Amino acid sequence: MRTVNPTTNEELRTYDLDSAAAVEGTLDRAADGFVAWRETPITDRQERVAAIADVLRENLEEYAALMTREMGKPLDQSRGELEKCAWVCEFYAEHAAEFLQDDHVGVHPEATTKVAYEPLGPLVAVMPWNYPFWQVLRVAAPTLAAGNVMLLKHAPNVTGCAKTIEAVLDDAGFPDGVFQTLVVEPETIHDVIADDRVAAVTLTGSTRAGSAVAETAGKHLKPSVLELGGSDPFVVLDDAPIDRAVDVGVDARTKNNGQACIAAKRFIVVDDVYDEFRDAFVDAMADLTVGDPTDPATDVGPMARDDLLDELDQQVKETVDAGADVVLGGEPLDRDGNFYPPTVLENVPGDAPAACDELFGPVASLFRVPDEAAAVALANDTEYGLGASVWTSDDARAERVAGELEAGAVFANDLVQSHPRLPFGGVKRSGYGRELGEQGIKAFTNEKTVWLS
Ligand code: NAP
Repeated sequence: MRTVNPTTNEELRTYDLDSAAAVEGTLDRAADGFVAWRETPITDRQERVAAIADVLRENLEEYAALMTREMGKPLDQSRGELEKCAWVCEFYAEHAAEFLQDDHVGVHPEATTKVAYEPLGPLVAVMPWNYPFWQVLRVAAPTLAAGNVMLLKHAPNVTGCAKTIEAVLDDAGFPDGVFQTLVVEPETIHDVIADDRVAAVTLTGSTRAGSAVAETAGKHLKPSVLELGGSDPFVVLDDAPIDRAVDVGVDARTKNNGQACIAAKRFIVVDDVYDEFRDAFVDAMADLTVGDPTDPATDVGPMARDDLLDELDQQVKETVDAGADVVLGGEPLDRDGNFYPPTVLENVPGDAPAACDELFGPVASLFRVPDEAAAVALANDTEYGLGASVWTSDDARAERVAGELEAGAVFANDLVQSHPRLPFGGVKRSGYGRELGEQGIKAFTNEKTVWLS
């Protein structure tokens, strides 16, 4: 496997794939590791999870530079990602025991009845490259605290990050077999999921990959959580605070070089304020600086891989061929690296890729609608249902519209974001199950009913 710097297209490193014997050894160590780890007191497990935060903070600059080198996000955003990873570790280090304490449920006068939350076993985690540390640690912190062990199959272009995360957990004092990385092709991971030593699987990635993993998990009756793609609506109503909506909208579309599952992708704006929003939004997108992600002045770095740049380019071309207008950008930049400029499309037909599919890059599509009802209908007219935001000065209206939007999370007058305390996940083809919060730590537990009479 080859890692490549997307800013220069220079090769960084090559890695050998794990042999069949190495995969067997990893599975054996996971099975043995689980037997010991599940018996380790939860307070000790929490201490180890807290220690991850310390190791991340001690080496923050080194890891941030690695992440930016491998997938191209602006360096300051890499630092922010690592801070957030430390936060999620501290959060579960503090709350794991409280979340997993037995629930006592009185159902019979002569019996003590309770629900206990027990670990399931080795969990396979198939992860994407876009937040190379965060996606892994938001699963690892709760899952390991709960007493499961984990096998990570990361995206190949961030194999350096995968190996580094393994080293971080080693330095944090996790015993052998509790967290291991597999460097394997997707075909091999299906055999691993099917293996009797594996208890469950989680995947964060595209809907296509999620569907393939769900098929294997279903066939072998393994529980799964899927965190998949999105085409989040950003709904601007007639009484919206326009200046703030523009600032947050630009950030929501271009953060992480536009490669976030919960990025705002479809900007649905009611007629009364459309022109005002559009003009300010286009100006702000045009003001962004595209360039080397290690330069502090850069707002938008390169797409993470050249095939992803080509795919985005193709989606925009097909959308324009279908009748959309390019207001800004619209072509890859003619320079080394995988650079695509901030782009704004208007008059996008309903069956064009920018309306129906996920555009994973800094491309915003603007839709003009007559009123709130039409805005909600268009927002929901998608196969995805990850996040959504609504912009209005009326709190009651915000809450009503939040109830009407089909999404795993709705934010009114703010950026859609994940928070350790709040469950995160989607509906429709954006996946199922929840990470983070109390729900996230219980996702891979046996909710065992115990009846003592
Ligand atoms: P991807 O191509 O689906 O890859 C994600 C992971 O799945 C990689 O490790 C990939 O390995 C693996 N994979 C791909 N096809 C597979 C298959 N048939 N069987 C088993 N594993 C398979 O997605 P990506 O390009 O890395 O990430 C971008 C996508 O992730 C976007 O759709 C984004 O919205 C979504 N995402 C969702 C969330 C969320 O929380 N909902 C968060 C972040 C990203 P290989 O690369 O080796 O194929």
